[in-house]
Amino acid sequence: MFPGNGAVDTPVRSGGPVPRRPAKHVELRFYAELKDFLAANHRSGKVGRTFDVAGSVKDMIEACGVPHTEVDLILANGESVDFSYRVGDGDRISVYPVFEAFDISSIARVRPQPLRQTRFVLDGHLGKVARYLRLVGFDSSYANTWSDHELVSISTGQHRILLTRDVGLLKHGAVTHGYFVRATEPLRQLTEIVDRFHLADCVAPFTRCMQCNGLLQPVEKAEIAHRLPPRTRDHFDEYRMCASCQRIYWPGSHHRRLTEIVDQARQA
Ligand SMILES: [Zn+2]
Repeated sequence: MFPGNGAVDTPVRSGGPVPRRPAKHVELRFYAELKDFLAANHRSGKVGRTFDVAGSVKDMIEACGVPHTEVDLILANGESVDFSYRVGDGDRISVYPVFEAFDISSIARVRPQPLRQTRFVLDGHLGKVARYLRLVGFDSSYANTWSDHELVSISTGQHRILLTRDVGLLKHGAVTHGYFVRATEPLRQLTEIVDRFHLADCVAPFTRCMQCNGLLQPVEKAEIAHRLPPRTRDHFDEYRMCASCQRIYWPGSHHRRLTEIVDQARQA
């Protein structure tokens, strides 16, 4: 005997254990550089996931390896949704990074407004690029002794973008503005950050102390002459002093190298 059209071969149950409901399925599609975070077998950007209990789309995105701080727009079945959206069976989720070229102002972004002033706090292993960022004038807090907890609270409390190469740190729920630095070489990291945050036109070289992030101010030579090595005093007339640590700067032997770094940042 053949079952009729569309009939399902359902076993008869009588008082046995409650049958396990079939897992729900969702398809996620990640765009552009978000693919960097996916497992090697998902580099096409497509990830299928099954689940039993519906969670937030934020948790599902992070379970795929993508930190929420990298995400700027989420569409669920074509409608923009925020991080708290509960994923439903059969959903098609599109996940976009922070947009640079496209105008999506008419669609709701997941993060209401960008930080007005671009300021950074850097993870402990980014000390060299912190110095470079200060060299080109960007407010960059850094200390290699800060714990993850301190980094997160400085980022949220002082409205600083958290720069790190630790994806796990960016998944911290409290972090709203963070960025995973892809490059490993400090100079490349600098141009990557300047490019990513569109800062090339804001470069203000030699305005910030590379040591402590304090602001540099012009200072009269006579005022600090007693602190200068004799050769320096003879050769240079223009000096700047850090308002925080009183370190003195002049266009000395490193100047050419530093100017090259500034030029690279301007061209980023
Ligand atoms: Zn200083």
